[in-house]
Amino acid sequence: MEKEKDFANLQMPQIDPKEYESITCDKCGNVAFMPAMILKIIPGLLLGTGAENRILPDQILVCSKCGTVIKKDREYYNLDIDGKPITEKVENKKSDIII
Ligand SMILES: [Zn+2]
Repeated sequence: MEKEKDFANLQMPQIDPKEYESITCDKCGNVAFMPAMILKIIPGLLLGTGAENRILPDQILVCSKCGTVIKKDREYYNLDIDGKPITEKVENKKSDIII
């Protein structure tokens, strides 16, 4: 029993979250985010269900203060800072976010 406890301590170093940098909203600087849903329309033909389209929800994070979609989710879904889809082709460059 005591052995297992020691092993757990080795695997999980003590991390104090307040000592580390927070991700901030790049519009207002707020540090709190909340979940929101993005709804993707999946063509029915792709699913083999005839012409019926399906709605696929996916969770994203938005600033709890101004509602701006968090940068990593905007990059993933190709959205501008106002959360609108970017329609023109953008250059395929590497993200500067390290996760
Ligand atoms: Zn914000």
